[in-house]
Amino acid sequence: MTLAPVLITGTGAGAMPGTTTLHSELLSRAARDDYQQWLTSVAPAGGCVRPIRLHGRMHDVHTATGEILATLDTASLPDRVIYTACGDRRASVCPACAETYRRDTYQLVRAGLAGGKGVPESVAIHPAVFATFTAPSFGPVHTRPMSKGGKVARCRPRRNASYCPHGRRLSCGQRHKETDACLGRPLCPDCYDYQAAVVWNAHAPELWRRTTIGIRRRLDRLTRDHGVRVRLSYAKVAEFQARGLVHFHAILRLDGHDPARITPPARVTASQLASIIRDAARATRFATVSHPANPRGWDIAWGRQLDTRVVKVTTAGELTDTAVASYLAKYATKATEAVGTLPVRISDGNLTIYGSPHSHQGRLIAAAWRLGNHPHADFQALRRWAHMLGYRGHFSTKSRRYSTTLRALRSARADWKRRQHLMVAPLANASNPIVAVATGLSYAGKGWRTSGDALLALSAAARARDHERIAREELTSG
Ligand SMILES: [Zn+2]
Ligand SMILES: [Zn+2]
Ligand SMILES: [Zn+2]
Repeated sequence: MTLAPVLITGTGAGAMPGTTTLHSELLSRAARDDYQQWLTSVAPAGGCVRPIRLHGRMHDVHTATGEILATLDTASLPDRVIYTACGDRRASVCPACAETYRRDTYQLVRAGLAGGKGVPESVAIHPAVFATFTAPSFGPVHTRPMSKGGKVARCRPRRNASYCPHGRRLSCGQRHKETDACLGRPLCPDCYDYQAAVVWNAHAPELWRRTTIGIRRRLDRLTRDHGVRVRLSYAKVAEFQARGLVHFHAILRLDGHDPARITPPARVTASQLASIIRDAARATRFATVSHPANPRGWDIAWGRQLDTRVVKVTTAGELTDTAVASYLAKYATKATEAVGTLPVRISDGNLTIYGSPHSHQGRLIAAAWRLGNHPHADFQALRRWAHMLGYRGHFSTKSRRYSTTLRALRSARADWKRRQHLMVAPLANASNPIVAVATGLSYAGKGWRTSGDALLALSAAARARDHERIAREELTSG
């Protein structure tokens, strides 16, 4: 459970910090005769803890004629603004917006496996593989390995363990609990190669790019022998492990080469695809450009742990599309929480606080900052992304043809919200489409004006979600 701070900016009329109580804020809002209208104007924020306030004019335009059917001026609304969601992906920043992002990612990943949302249902029979690509080891860390029987095994038991140059014994006989703070932390922080770790994070997107090229080349070679052609589509999500390194979960799917006939030829099976992925992952490696700290450059390759599983959409007992989609979506809303949440970008001013040598995360940040003092763009980025431990890639990405896009899902929802809450919705239908044009709106601020407003808006959003859920359940059970 993460607790995200609710942003209160207290600039509204009548809101003088220190002079009001939550009680009086609640009462003064709820007793106003425009209270219902106010609830309507905050509804599009949908439970966001740091909403964006917009002011200006918004028009409903008839698509065919260009005629303006209705205009909403926010000056006529109770707070003279409308509220929209901040849209942040991270659950530690805004739980409501992260939940929306998670659901969208789920829909996107699932559509790529089972069809729907504009993706043909025939994709369900395409060979697909769920693969996890991990980082190599940069020194022994505390882990929680599982034995074959599903029990927690000892961390790193070594009867004749050696001692490192710092006099630390490189052995740990504990069976760690899931909540143990030492998980992912090095047995000896002074031996751990922090520089190589952040350099690896920084180059992980390039390693992924080269690996997909390797997979595509191998596929071409295989299918050429069969006299057919295929295409590779994928969706991937990055996740931080406790040791502070990213790893990637990806769904890789085979499509037909011709966009009009997306079904691939039956010659290539999912297990062939899986072995091609493993082969390409093992073979892909490159060296970074030279750096004074390592003139020969760092070697960038995947770790030895590479898990590939064939995705079956219907058969029970195997990985199902829903399970895979939920799994990927869950990670899409995380940032570096597994290592520790970082609220800010790193600068000269706060480096001593966040780059402390007393924590694993601090050492990673300090290493990224130090190495980033270099003219080459590959290393400069380490400073800008020091708060992400060097990783500058996206947290969820997909190839163009895999599925619909998050943007498409988002704009569909935004249109719907605008119409539902504000405009001339009853006029709109398939033969009489209306477009809500919001370009006349500009930024007016961020956050809720009072704690009372936040409480009322967030509880209204929670009630709305409950109604939606009940409606959905009734629909599926009826
Ligand atoms: Zn939000
Ligand atoms: Zn241990
Ligand atoms: Zn050591």
